Order: sequence, then C-alpha cells, then structure tokens
Amino acid sequence: MQGIIKILPDFIANQIAAGEVVQRPESVVKELIENAMDAGATEIAVVVKNSGKHLIHILDNGDGMTKEDLQLSVKRHATSKVFTTQDLEEIRTYGFRGEALASIASVANLEIRSRTKDMEHGWKLTIEPMKSEIIEAVNMDFGTQIFVRNLFFNVPARRKFLKADITEFRYISDTMIRFALSKPHIRFTFYDNEVLVFDTKPCDIVQRIEDVLGRSTANSLIPVFLENEKLKIEGFIGEPLIAKQSKSGQFLYLNGRHIVNKSLSYAVYSAFEHLLEKRSQPIYILNIQIDPKEIDVNVHPQKHEVKFDDERYVYNLVNQAVTTALQSKNLIPESTLVGNIMQSPFDRVSQNDSDELMIVNRHTGEVLDMQQHHEERNPSFNFAKTEYENRSFSKPNQNFDLSAFDNLFGKKFGESSDIDSPAESIDNQKLEYRKPEKMYWQLHKKYIFSQTEKGVIVIDQHAAHERILFEKALKAMNKEFSNSQEILFPVRLQLNSSQKLLLSEIEAEIKLLGFNFSKIQDNEIEINSVPLDINSGSESQSFLGILEQYEEYERTRESNKRDNLAASFGCKSAIKAGHYLNQEEMSSLMNDLFSCSMPYVCPHGRPIMIEFTIPEFDRRFGRT
Ligand code: ADP
Ligand code: MG
Repeated sequence: MQGIIKILPDFIANQIAAGEVVQRPESVVKELIENAMDAGATEIAVVVKNSGKHLIHILDNGDGMTKEDLQLSVKRHATSKVFTTQDLEEIRTYGFRGEALASIASVANLEIRSRTKDMEHGWKLTIEPMKSEIIEAVNMDFGTQIFVRNLFFNVPARRKFLKADITEFRYISDTMIRFALSKPHIRFTFYDNEVLVFDTKPCDIVQRIEDVLGRSTANSLIPVFLENEKLKIEGFIGEPLIAKQSKSGQFLYLNGRHIVNKSLSYAVYSAFEHLLEKRSQPIYILNIQIDPKEIDVNVHPQKHEVKFDDERYVYNLVNQAVTTALQSKNLIPESTLVGNIMQSPFDRVSQNDSDELMIVNRHTGEVLDMQQHHEERNPSFNFAKTEYENRSFSKPNQNFDLSAFDNLFGKKFGESSDIDSPAESIDNQKLEYRKPEKMYWQLHKKYIFSQTEKGVIVIDQHAAHERILFEKALKAMNKEFSNSQEILFPVRLQLNSSQKLLLSEIEAEIKLLGFNFSKIQDNEIEINSVPLDINSGSESQSFLGILEQYEEYERTRESNKRDNLAASFGCKSAIKAGHYLNQEEMSSLMNDLFSCSMPYVCPHGRPIMIEFTIPEFDRRFGRT
C-alpha cells in the first residue's frame, strides 16, 4: 500500500509559519526592526501607510547583505544567527528562527534592497507569493531597505481579521515606543503616511523617556537599581502620582528584549500596593539583565514570552528593587502597618484593561488559574472579597465596613481595649451604658495620634480629609449619590473669559459634583446649590478656588477630567492644618477615612498616615 504522508511544499509551510509569526502589520514592523537591530543599525526609519495594510517601509544603516545572503534570507530556516544547539541555548540576537522574511514573503509582496560596506552597488530582490524572485542591481546607500506591500492580499481570512486602521496603528506605535525606549542610542524615525510621528535622536534613557512618553513622566521618575552575581535590574518607575488608568506606561525588558510576563508585572505592581488607587497602574521602564543561559526565549514564535529557570527568584528581586526605590522616596509608610493589613497571601488584580481578574500569590508571584477557583465550591480562603475590596464603600457615611480599621487597631473598632486612654481611666462600670470610644489626640492642630495594636499611628488631618472628599467627589460624579445642598441665599459670581471657557468645558462634571448654577448674563452666574462639604459663606470662594486648582492640575497632571476635578475639590475643601478638631470630629474623620478605598495616600500620592511601632521605640530607648 502506498503511504499518504507527504512533506508540505515550502510555500504552504511558509504560510503556516506566517500564521504564527505575522499576525498583523505590527508583527511585520517588529520583525523587521529586530532584523535591523541585529544588523547593528544605529538609525532605523519606519514608514507605514494605512496602518501598514498597504505599505510597511523600513530603512536601516546596518551591515547590509551580500547578493548571496539576500537570496538566502527569504528562504525558510535561513538565518545568520544560530548554527549550533549551544547558540540556541544562549541567544543574544533578536532573531534566530530564520522564518520572518520567508513568512512575510508568503503573505505579501516583498522587496528588499541591501548593500554592505564592500559592495559597489546594492541588490534589489523582489518576491511575490507563488512566483519566483527577481534580483537586480540597484543604486543605494549602505544598509537595508525593505518594502512590504499589500499585506495578506492573498489570505482574505487574515485580512478580515484585522482591526480598524486606528487600532492597527496603535499596535504599531506601541511597538515603536517599546523599541525606542529599549535602545536610546538608536535613532528611530517613525512616519504615518507623510506625517512624522516621532524622530528620536540618540540620547540617554531619561531624555528618551521624555521624547516618547512626555515631559511630565520624565520629571517624575524614580531610579531603580539592583545588582547581584546572577542578575541586574535597572530602569525607572514613575511616582505613584503619575500612575495611569491603563497599563500603557509599563515596559518590561529582558536583556533588552520587550517581554510580557504577568508574574513579573505583578512583582512591580505589588510593591506599589497601598500607594495607588484602585485600578490605577504604575508606570515603569525596567530592564532585567540575566545570563542568556538562564532563560529560554524560544517558547513562542513571536518571542514575547520567556521562561526563567528560576522565576520565583527573579520575582522576588524585581519586587525588592522596586520597593527599595519607593522607600528611597519615603513613599511607603512603616512596613509593619502594611503587613498587618494585608494578611491574605492572595491578591486579585485586573488583567489588561478588562474586568477579567487574575489571582496572584503576593509572596511568590505565582499566577493561579482563575477557572479552577471559580469552580471550587468551598474555598478555604475567601477570594471573592479581599480586604482591599472590603474597604471600599458604596453608601458614604453609613454602613461602611470597618475591617481595615479593625486590623489596624487589632480589635473590633469601638470595643474597649487595654489602652490607658483618657476615656477609660474614668470608671468603666459607671459608663457601661456607653460604648467606649477610641481616643485621639490632636498635635499642633495638624496631626492626629492614636494607639494601634503595634504602636502609634500619626495621621495628617488635611491629607486624610482630602482623600475622603476626593473619593466622595468621584462617587458623586459617578452618580452614586447626590452630594448637593441648596443654599438659602444664592450667590452671584463674575467670571473672566478664561474661567468661563474652563467652566463650559467641565460644566457637566461640576454639576454632578454638587454645584448648581444658572447663567445670569454672559459673564455672570448664580450659584444655588453646592456640595455638602462646602461651608456656608465660602461658596463663591470655593467655586473659584476649585476652578483655579483644576486648571493647574489639567496642565500638570496626566489624570482625566473627573480625577482632576475631584482632586481640586478635595484640595480646596479639606480642613487645613491649624483647624482644631474635637474627639467627635476626629472620630468621624477616622471612620470616613477607613471606609475609603485607598486610605493610605492622598490624591497627590503623599502618605496620609505613618505608624511607629513599639519595637522601634524599644530600639530607640535601648531596651533591646
Ligand atoms: P532571523 O532574524 O530569525 O535570522 P529572518 O527571516 O528575520 O530570520 O532574517 C533572515 C536573515 O536575513 C537574517 O538572519 C539576516 O542574516 C538577514 N537579514 C534580515 N534583515 C536584515 C537587515 N535589515 N540587515 C541585514 N541582514 C538582514
Ligand atoms: Mg528576524
């Protein structure tokens, strides 16, 4: 009987490989830039038309190819980079599979021009799917120029699968940014049709960050550095203040190659724990330098993913490097405080920007399988609600969950404790009908002190109130409750033209915040309701103050409209230092603070509280 197995013709094999290597125009850009970098280019220019669907054109000033190499380069498994198994075990180049050019040639019209330093002229190779290639002499500079035209013209299924131009363009521009950040010594020029998107001259990394991510990011960087005999972690994190709503500011590299690794991203994220608001994402640009023998980059055709021999070790060091960097800025309150509140080793974090959640072990960085835990009927620990979530509240000032407070103070809030607070030095028997209150001390009308299980906590009263008002304002703008109260005597207000303009921009938001007003004349409004926390008599001053503050935030912060407005409201309406608070007021402030979703940092990223522990005092007093 005759066998039925046949070796696939080259062309089909290439198209299958193309399915893995070339998923969209962005993959072509990525592969070609990697080739240019492997060829030692110091200048790389990229031009795309119709988001790369019509044309991707890449020029480099690298080594170029001889005529023979040029002809071989488009053959499958043709590579100048890997020859032995040993090479494969310690890959130092971007490419090594020898399939990018062959794959591209099977799904597009490809033209490559190339010239090495010793050649009199260049050679141009034109190759179309299913046709034999043509090679001819051409006049050109040293280096390589590649044209990829009509991508997927012969694979309708792929073409249909492509997203709208704007989305495909975003993929490409994200990739350009990743490369630009990873190699500041290379000049990258990037054109969208005839429009220059960026042209980054060779420079140092901070300048490069400014060039591609903007000045406000570059101005708020904290350096990260950790080195031992096995690896080196180097780069920057952004201050918590400039955290984003998406992961678009996160860049992780391994030996200069951009990688996607959930567990290492979490290692960074968890170092920021308590310093970020819910859902916001830190900015980081980090490179891990490690011996290529310790990793395997050949686990995925697009080489986005890597395997570490000892991932947990790398996880711990990344976490440590970022924590140290944050501590150097005094952004982290006493660590015992953090340990006390976060008891579960598991954390849930949102994946990508979707609502999908993953569960991570905060000690090891291990990403647990979501599915499995969904199915688990009776889990021994409660994943569904971490303490972090418990702290958020839906109805302001009523029914909030005090678990964070309990944790911090080590007792059910409101229960009597072994603390010799003034309230308890009074005969408890006689006061049995009254629930003993937690005691607070105000220091210099500025800080609030209270005993905790481990020592004493000091809270900045202004920052605390700012945080409370900030979260309230966000909820009001989300229409979770109405924060508005009518005023008895409406006040009239003159606006100058820039205030008028600003107001028209944020009118909807400021009304949701609780300000209601009507236009009297072109330059005059009448305010008839204000948010609950605005004192009577200071309505117009508050209104103008918030506008002014908003304008500044709008210029200096990267946050969105609502965040900026909520922060302005918090900043202008919160009690100031110098404001006397009685027991009841302090107690209510603390209740509100601990029902916030993020009670540890103010909207500007400064700490709200610091805990001093008894062991620290003991050490200072020479008791240990
Ligand atoms: P790989 O990069 O995995 O080796 P490719 O198909 O991407 O495979 O490229 C095949 C070969 O073509 C490379 O190994 C390299 O020798 C050559 N080549 C590709 N692009 C360039 C370039 N821009 N400059 C010089 N040589 C190149
Ligand atoms: Mg390659």
